[in-house]
Amino acid sequence: MSKIHLLSPRLANQIAAGEVVERPASVIKELLENSIDAGASSVTIDIEAGGAKAIRVRDNGSGIGKDDLPLALSRHATSKITHLDDLEAVATLGFRGEALASIAAVSRLTLTSNDSETGPGWQAYNEGRDMAVEVKPAPHPRGTSVEVNDLFFNTPARKKFLRTEKTEFVRIDDVVKKLALSRFDLNLSLHHNGKAIRGFQPATEQFAMERRVAAICGPEFMQQALYMDVSGVGLRLWGWVGKPTFSRSQADLQYFFVNGRIIRDKLVTHAVRQAYQDVLYHGRHPAYVLYLELEPAEVDVNVHPTKHEVRFRDTRTVHDFLFRSLHRTIADMRPGEAALETADNAPVAAAEQHGLREQPSITLGPPGGGSGFGGGATAPAFGRSGFGNRASGVSESLAVYGALAEEEGAGGATLKQAGDADIPPLGFAIAQLKGIYILAENRQGLVVVDMHAAHERIVYERFKAAYEESGIVSQPLLVPETVAVSEREADTAEEYADSFARLGIRLQRTGPESLTAREIPAIIGNADAEPLVRDVLSDLIQYGSSERIANHTNDILSTMACHGSVRANRKLTIPEMNALLRDMERTERSGQCNHGRPTWTQMSLDELDKLFLRGR
Ligand code: ADP
Ligand code: MG
Repeated sequence: MSKIHLLSPRLANQIAAGEVVERPASVIKELLENSIDAGASSVTIDIEAGGAKAIRVRDNGSGIGKDDLPLALSRHATSKITHLDDLEAVATLGFRGEALASIAAVSRLTLTSNDSETGPGWQAYNEGRDMAVEVKPAPHPRGTSVEVNDLFFNTPARKKFLRTEKTEFVRIDDVVKKLALSRFDLNLSLHHNGKAIRGFQPATEQFAMERRVAAICGPEFMQQALYMDVSGVGLRLWGWVGKPTFSRSQADLQYFFVNGRIIRDKLVTHAVRQAYQDVLYHGRHPAYVLYLELEPAEVDVNVHPTKHEVRFRDTRTVHDFLFRSLHRTIADMRPGEAALETADNAPVAAAEQHGLREQPSITLGPPGGGSGFGGGATAPAFGRSGFGNRASGVSESLAVYGALAEEEGAGGATLKQAGDADIPPLGFAIAQLKGIYILAENRQGLVVVDMHAAHERIVYERFKAAYEESGIVSQPLLVPETVAVSEREADTAEEYADSFARLGIRLQRTGPESLTAREIPAIIGNADAEPLVRDVLSDLIQYGSSERIANHTNDILSTMACHGSVRANRKLTIPEMNALLRDMERTERSGQCNHGRPTWTQMSLDELDKLFLRGR
């Protein structure tokens, strides 16, 4: 007698279900995807007992004809692809033709549908080992309802893995949130045990879309996010990215969609991380809701049964595009950037405009809404590429801010003297608080700046630009400074003399255990040479090889920037403070210090009024 036999259809489907139907949330995901593929504009979801008892999904899509109903419940039956070619460029969410069959094999499933406006509806149900389908008339408007009862009643092993009702429902809610973010035009509602939990109205205007994002990701995210929309090389990336100062301790607020499909992808995660690298506080995770659009043929979606992963055909181009677009967007998050953008692609703290903020709260980062500051425009023309000029010869320490302030003729300016159009985004300094903070007045109200953090970022960005351009210009010390070190350290310093030179530091070995610093970077000409040399040396020893040093240049530059920046308790004059504010406005990434902490904050008059209950 033969030992090999064919599996019954039910058993075969139960095995397939192992891959796609892990828990109630996966049922919801498959059913919602089917509704979307059927062109539904409205979907309602009803759950009982975390989905273990009942799941009902009803849509107003194209429906299924009577003759197609049995096929819809069979494995390897789909209306979405016919040829292998179709698989190469799938535009629908589903295409494997196994979800309904799999779910039906591990539950009591009824499928009711009507593909006409006038005719009656039909209902299909399957039974037995062979999953024979019975079809009978049932009233139903155009569209489809799927009811899934007693999930896993016949697969006890699976049932054992179900968590509490609450946990399963949280996962369902997660799926619904993702779907709601993937299709703003969908009317979507979710009920649990008869209670309405979520209801999303179709959102087509930017305003309504942002309300939906705020409802899902929290109003805080929307306040701290910028909208972006970048196209190029056949790709488009749009959506909302959280400011670096709105980072999270977990990677739990990261939504990435590829052609409307939510995915988790290493390449994407990597590109995003890299883009945030220089501005994110150590160990923190960025928050974002992003949409990548590209030709369906450029991405393979048939990689995993649950379709959570994709494979890009041209990984390099995609990675590059993501990195560049995000990097640019993040670099532009500096005070007043809104004024530099045209009205319709301005990155704007959207929630602020839309009045989503109710609590008096302090907002980090730039004020919302391109309200016509002249900040960017009035800044003198030495932008990014001009750093070299300013660095050569002259010390760039704070002393220079005095001179700079006079040059610009606005050093002592106040809000009163300036016309509305001349008020820069960070306003004019009014005082220094406790030797740590600069207080300034701008159009919205009060600006508070952490002067060390801000100056550190400015010096750091200046170092990076100089390093990339031509190497860091050094400046001789009036009195060379001798640094006592260990013999090993002295050896290392000699070995890495070239690295030091590129960093603008010239050292000489003046004994077995002593080094003499002769030149330090002009950008931080006033810094103490000894601690600077020690810290850079310890960085170089830590990285150990030229290659690793090259990879960690930014870390070393960040160390140096710390030495060159204004310390707390340093008294600044008003013109010096104003010059620092102007420098922040033209420095990329100046909203965060080198370690990702915020450098400034705005308290608007409104917020101040609320604190004092004024105008009530
Ligand atoms: P797939 O989505 O991969 O095609 P499914 O098993 O999920 O496989 O669905 C099988 C078929 O049933 C689909 O191809 C579609 O034709 C039909 N179908 C399923 N759900 C719906 C729905 N809500 N509205 C219209 N047709 C549906
Ligand atoms: Mg499907």
